[in-house]
Amino acid sequence: MAIAQKLLLFDIDGTLLFSEGAGRRTMTKLLIEIFGSDVESRPEDFAGSTDLEIMHTLLGRQGFDPQKYGTTIPEIIETYLDRLVVELEERPTIQVFDGVRTLLQNLESDERFALGLLTGNFERGAFIKLGAAGLDHHFGVGSYGSDHRDRNQLPPIALERATAHFQRDFTAGNSWIIGDTPKDIRCARAHGLRCMAVATGMYSADELRQHQPDALVDNFSDTNDIIHILAG
Ligand SMILES: [Mg+2]
Repeated sequence: MAIAQKLLLFDIDGTLLFSEGAGRRTMTKLLIEIFGSDVESRPEDFAGSTDLEIMHTLLGRQGFDPQKYGTTIPEIIETYLDRLVVELEERPTIQVFDGVRTLLQNLESDERFALGLLTGNFERGAFIKLGAAGLDHHFGVGSYGSDHRDRNQLPPIALERATAHFQRDFTAGNSWIIGDTPKDIRCARAHGLRCMAVATGMYSADELRQHQPDALVDNFSDTNDIIHILAG
């Protein structure tokens, strides 16, 4: 019987795919509707943050008050996700990074690995993006921005779920987080997981190196090299 040895928890945006800011565009449009004016947002509000954290940051800047606007942050997020589906249907801008499809296929058929997600996207949002990219079938377990506002709280949730899902005891010591931002690296370090940083998002390899990931790659095009590192 195949035994999975290493749990690999993948981030989505900037790591597996690039959605040309579809999420950011959709969220900004919705917030303009709610507030009737432009909402200040910066790229660094988004990279590596959970959807809940992003929403709290943007709404907080506007002095959002649920009473005054007659809506809540969870309701706004649900509307955002409905709009994201439409946005991606109308403007199918998602690009899967070089090497990602081959890497995921090879990892999935390699008994040394089990695949999961650790992403700031809401669970529904994660599968909207992965589905649009044709990558959703690789992932049956993970932790999401809908589980906690603070990304650093997500690793224990992912480990617990993966242990139940794969019927194998995954610990921090046999798990990797694979992501594109310093927040992914910090989140792994906070719980003793290893982190592979990939420079396909908004941070360069030099910027990521300063945060001392356990492994650092420019992209996923050298499948054999990546698998060798993750198996080690
Ligand atoms: Mg990312």
